[in-house]
Parts: sequence; structure tokens; C-alpha cells
Amino acid sequence: MSDLHRKSLRELREGLAAGSFTSVELVEHFLARIREHDQTLNTLITVSDKEALQQAGAADERIQKGEAGPLTGIPLIHKDIFCTRGVKTSCGSRMLDNFISPYDATVVERLADAGMVMLGKANMDEFAMGSSNETSYYGPVKNPWDTERVPGGSSGGSAAAVAARLAPAATGTDTGGSIRQPAALCGITGLKPSYGRVSRWGMIAFASSLDQAGPMARSAEDCALLLSAMAGFDERDSTCVDRPVDDYLAALERPVKGLRVGVVKEFFGEGLDSGVGASIEEAMKVLEGLGVELVEVSLPHSRYSVPAYYVVAPAEASSNLARYDGVRFGHRCDDPKDLEDLYKRSRAEGFGAEVKRRIMIGTYALSAGYYDAYYLKAQKVRQVIARDFRNAFEQADLLLGPASPEVAFRLGEKSDDPVSMYLSDIYTIAVNLAGLPALSMPAPRAHGLPVGLQLIGNYFDEGRLLNLAHQLQLATDWHLQTPEGFA
Ligand code: GLN
Repeated sequence: MSDLHRKSLRELREGLAAGSFTSVELVEHFLARIREHDQTLNTLITVSDKEALQQAGAADERIQKGEAGPLTGIPLIHKDIFCTRGVKTSCGSRMLDNFISPYDATVVERLADAGMVMLGKANMDEFAMGSSNETSYYGPVKNPWDTERVPGGSSGGSAAAVAARLAPAATGTDTGGSIRQPAALCGITGLKPSYGRVSRWGMIAFASSLDQAGPMARSAEDCALLLSAMAGFDERDSTCVDRPVDDYLAALERPVKGLRVGVVKEFFGEGLDSGVGASIEEAMKVLEGLGVELVEVSLPHSRYSVPAYYVVAPAEASSNLARYDGVRFGHRCDDPKDLEDLYKRSRAEGFGAEVKRRIMIGTYALSAGYYDAYYLKAQKVRQVIARDFRNAFEQADLLLGPASPEVAFRLGEKSDDPVSMYLSDIYTIAVNLAGLPALSMPAPRAHGLPVGLQLIGNYFDEGRLLNLAHQLQLATDWHLQTPEGFA
């Protein structure tokens, strides 16, 4: 029984169906691992053990009655950005430290309907703003590969927990790279779907035109299973697209021979760590061995993606975060003198430094006189970047590059240098600006630490992405490697 944390989702499902173990036993096993390791790693803000055991009991009944689906009885953790009825949803912020949502996010609801069991809520950068998990009100998350290093962010708790086998799967969100970059730094597989593929309802808004939820797990096959349950139209989110969900599991098995994969020239220049570059090249060789045709493509305007993002994302954040005023929910200061004092002090006390920085930048960019120069300009850059991708997809079925320019950096190394922190997402942000799907999966390690290979797909081509990632994982064992002490 002690190896349950090593099993893939498919193996867990088979074991549950065969009666080799129950969902309650499975959940107890993972809760014990959380108790053992999470003092060190700090991946979870809330452990919902009581609720988890109840849900597991209900899943066992469903399995016994023969009413189980492929995910019934399997545990997961949700990033603490998803509203969960009755269990605290903090978004990594003091502002929501006392917030208990009266409803479940659509993603949470769908995975619960599929019978998945929530173990708890994952630590994250405050309001998903960050690339290292150091902006969390609940303290930083440690990378299980080296506990002096960051796990990446903002979905760092989700990534570190899956890497350390404290949960077989997790949800994350990606506004500028927050699924892919932590997946890369922790050595797991994470997929950011096309904008509109997964409902944002009940997912706390950061930058609404960029935010997208996705699965984080050990393999592409596990991500395919999770995405099948998460994706689909939701009338409560007007940006969610009404379009049938592909059969992602069937897609995994498609042949990849002859597939044209575009190697993005701009992702291999200055700023890329040479160890990471060598690792990506090794993965490319294996892809060629699978019969994939590599072609060079260019995204000439990708260098404007980080500056455009740091206008658009803060602008939308400044508007979204205006709702935290100390009146309806969230932190309220003690003894306000008057309404203005209530607003000012509640916000001053509730938000951390990075969130305040973004609100100030965003408010400035949207103010009269600067709107055209900054916000409108950034929206135009966004169109140019989307056009670059359209051109690239005329020459290739998928695109490839690193997910992050370097391996996990040390805690504290970039905390005082926001620009250097922002550059962590230099290869991921353009994808969000264009609304495309992309994933990060383990490539060979560099400097002893995980490296993420990024694959980018055309709109709603998640099936193809998962297909190539799965075939590469069948041919390699990079995704199976486990940090020492967590095997
Ligand atoms: N690191 C980026 C930021 O700080 C992206 C975050 C995200 O994708 N949520 O905004």
C-alpha cells in the first residue's frame, strides 16, 4: 500500500476499480504524506482532511455501485484561487484570509462531480502575482528538488505538491505562465488551455482577458484525464467558448510521425541558461527520433510580450481588485473613522507589496491621458503578437521552446528585483496574450534540477499538444524522476 503515491491516475483508477484499495485508504495515504512533508514544503494553505474523508467515503460508494467515472475516488488539490464552498479561499492574500465562499468554482464543481476528492488548497503567490511563490501571505513554498530554491509561481504550491507526491494531481491557473513555469521548475507536466476552453467562473480574477485554469500532474496522460473533466462550456462565464470538447484520451494515441514542430528562434537567444538550452536540444533529438520534423520559425515581436503584459495585466488587476474595499467581504480594518478611512486602511493592510505595485501601475496606465499611450498601445502589440503566431502556425503544427530561461532560482534571489522576476515568464507570456494553449513537460535535468520543455498549440488544439507530449513521455523517463526524499 505504501507505493500509492507513485501511481499514475490511470493506475489509481484501475486499483480502485479492482478493489485493491479504497478511496478512503488512498486519501489517508496522501494526508499522511502531507503531514510528514508539508511542514518543510508549505505547499498547502488549508488541508481539508475531514471533508476529504467524507468525499472519499461517497466515492467508494459510487465505485461499489458501479457508477464510477475515470476520476472517481482520486484525490487532488486546488490552487487557492478557486472558490470552494465551506473551505477557506484566500488567494494567497491577507485580504481573503477570512473568506469562505458560499459556492464552488465551475472547475471545482466539475471535478467534484467526476468524483475527485479535494485534499486541500494550494499555496500560491498573492492574487497569482509572482513567479516564485514568495509573495504569498502564507510564506514561500519550497522546491522539493532543493528546499533552498523556489518552486516557481504563481501555482507553486500545486507544482511542488505534485512533484513531492503529496497529491497525484492539482489545478493551477496561468495568466502569464503560472502553470507552465512552476511545472518546469518542479519537474511536472502542466497545461494552460486555450482562452475560453475552461470556465473562469468562481476563479478569483487577476487579469480577466488572460486568466485560464488548467491541470497539473506528472504526465500528459494524467493531464488529458483531468482536462476532459475541466473543459467545456459554462453559461456563467461569458468568455467560455461553446464548442465541443475533444476526446483528449483518444488523441494521446495518434501517430506523431511527420508532425511539423516549429522551433521558436527567439526562445534560444541571449538570456537562456546554457544547461537549459542543452536539455531542450536533447529533447528535440528524441522528437526527431519519433519522426517529428523540426522547422525553424520566428516570432519577431515576442520581445514586446513582457512589456505589453505588464501594462495589460496590471490594468485589468487594478480594476478587478477594486472590489476589495473592506465593505462586502475580505479584510476590514479596525475602528474606521469614516468611509474613506475604511477603504484606505482595509486595502493598505490587506494587500502585500507586489499587489500594491500592480494596482498602482495599472491605475496609472488606465488614467485619462495615459490610456492611449499605454493600454491601447499594449492591446495593439497584443494583436501583432497573435499575428506572429498565426504566421508560425502556417509552417508548423506545434511550436517548441523552453518554458523558463533557467532552472529554479534561490529563495530571495530575485525578490528585490521585480524586473528580473518578471523575465521568468519571457517564454510563456506571449501565449497568454494570444490566447493559445501550451504545456510544459519535463526535459532532461540541468544543474541537477528540472527543466521544462514548452509545447505551444494552435487554438483549441489541446489534443495535439497532449498527443506529442504523451508520445515523448512513452519514449523517455524524464517525467518519472522524483526528488530525493520524496520517492
Ligand atoms: N509571473 C506572472 C505575473 O507575475 C504570471 C502570473 C500568472 O500567470 N498568474 O504576473
